[in-house]
Amino acid sequence: MSKALLYDSTACIGCKQCEQACATQNHLEYNDAIAGEEYQSAHKLTTVVTRGNKFMRRLCMNCADPSCASVCPVGALTKTALGPVTYDASKCMGCRYCMVACPFSVPKYEWGKLFPKVQKCVMCPDRVAQGKPTACAEICPTGATKFGERDELVAEARQRIRDNPGKYVDHIYGLEEVGGTSVLLLSPVPFETFGYRTDIAKDPLPMLTYRILSHIPRLPEPLVLRVVAGLGSLDSVVRASQRELESVEGVGTVRAREIREGLRRLQEHNLVDRYLQL
Ligand code: SF4
Ligand code: SF4
Ligand code: SF4
Repeated sequence: MSKALLYDSTACIGCKQCEQACATQNHLEYNDAIAGEEYQSAHKLTTVVTRGNKFMRRLCMNCADPSCASVCPVGALTKTALGPVTYDASKCMGCRYCMVACPFSVPKYEWGKLFPKVQKCVMCPDRVAQGKPTACAEICPTGATKFGERDELVAEARQRIRDNPGKYVDHIYGLEEVGGTSVLLLSPVPFETFGYRTDIAKDPLPMLTYRILSHIPRLPEPLVLRVVAGLGSLDSVVRASQRELESVEGVGTVRAREIREGLRRLQEHNLVDRYLQL
């Protein structure tokens, strides 16, 4: 059974103990200055956003069908059966495709470090595998962040909305977004108030970017090295990959066609531009 987190904004008192517990769990520094930062970053994997007297958590949604994992050329990101989307720094080659592909702009890069990693909430996989709640759920003094079986949490969220007319917007965020996520959110005000997109697709997104990016590891070594060396331009890598694939007798044509289609869809969704801005 897949696990999940249910965060109920109406029960949250903004104490930020979840932030602190997350930092401890992930061996990250936490102090007053960091507590004051309202955005996710390489050193802050979850944040409690305040709007007036309302609070909302931001963290990786640990999607059921994560785009970040589907585009990772080396399999550094993995969706586990229990729910967490994990990250293996030893596999990561720093291409940062995951940062482009994530519909929630979650993964962050440790730009200031000599050996940088991607950082995101990985839903405390070691704790979850041991049958424990995530650190943020365990510490939460009000039960605003609750850990459990996803199916049961969905039923509970529906019941809370049903039993409390007018208390919540009629929307469990994460129930359907991008095919469903392992983080479910309830809010008394529209989710856009806290920067959550509600125009997001209900279907999983991975195929949008998969076709192009998944070909990278199968490309000839010089191209992989170019990718590792810095990815100055995704566009140029794609064009180079088209040329190189076309030169491969037999399989080149099919792969090149897939890559062109991938590029067209990436450009359609402005993802190449987003990548170059990272
Ligand atoms: S929210 Fe983004 S980083 Fe997190 S699992 Fe989904 S696609 Fe990956
Ligand atoms: S699930 Fe774990 S890694 Fe994610 S925000 Fe909570 S404590 Fe941090
Ligand atoms: S620990 Fe619980 S009550 Fe405190 S800010 Fe986090 S979610 Fe809200």
